[in-house]
Amino acid sequence: MSAAKKVLLVTGGSRGIGAAVCRLGAAAGYRIAVNYAANEAAAKALVAEIEAAGGEAFAVNGDVGVEADIVAMFEAVDRDYGRLDALVNNAGVVDVKARVDEMSLARLERMMRINVVGSFLCAREAVRRMSSKNGGQGGAIVNISSAASIHGSPGEYVDYAASKAAIDTFTLGLAREVATEGVRVNAIRPGIIDTEIHASGGQPDRVERFRDMLPMKRAGTADEVAHAVLYLLSDEASYTTGAILNVSGGR
Ligand code: NAP
Repeated sequence: MSAAKKVLLVTGGSRGIGAAVCRLGAAAGYRIAVNYAANEAAAKALVAEIEAAGGEAFAVNGDVGVEADIVAMFEAVDRDYGRLDALVNNAGVVDVKARVDEMSLARLERMMRINVVGSFLCAREAVRRMSSKNGGQGGAIVNISSAASIHGSPGEYVDYAASKAAIDTFTLGLAREVATEGVRVNAIRPGIIDTEIHASGGQPDRVERFRDMLPMKRAGTADEVAHAVLYLLSDEASYTTGAILNVSGGR
């Protein structure tokens, strides 16, 4: 296929919001690197779905909480596609409900390592390839934050909310750092989106419980977030950098 086609790497691209970004990205003409951590079957099924629809994709395993995995993941993209134009720092985790006075060091370190340090290291690898200062052709990064960064998630997961506030500030700082180097950096703050992340935090009924508290009286869909991501990646957003877009149904 055409080597000129742009390449998009989506961390945590195998399920939920990341998978929706991969599908829409492939439909928009990107070649897609679908990163996953554990569920190989989901990643392979998504790649098959994209290929069946005429797109190009490959699955790349790697835990964004592990630096060596991140480096290997970007090297796999170099090898398979030979260029990188866009990164979506989407991989992220919650944890079970807990108050701050109940949180262990292990919990806090896992949360920050995956959600914050992982996003920094992936952006580092992307900027090394995209920035004109490093000989690159430019590119775009979208970080997936959360409305939790504003609300704080008391009694639920303040650690998660704080990890996403770090992503907001990271987005502003990196955007300004590379603004003259052809790299745009933006973020999305999704509200409550109907994915499996809530069950992974021991709250499979979370979307249902929050529904009436949401201004639109419904959760968002992964597709509704993905459309905003694709806009921020696109040339139509050429003067948009350091922006943080709420996709939260007014919450
Ligand atoms: P999800 O349905 O739980 O999917 C998570 C995806 O991330 C999966 O593809 C998973 O891969 C991957 N992943 C998890 N840990 C990883 C790691 N250490 N390294 C690499 N990949 C990893 O989650 P989601 O709801 O789509 O959330 C995606 C992003 O949106 C997260 O950053 C989340 O914080 C944010 N967000 C979500 C909501 C919401 O309500 N859903 C709201 C605000 C923000 P495996 O299948 O291999 O585990």
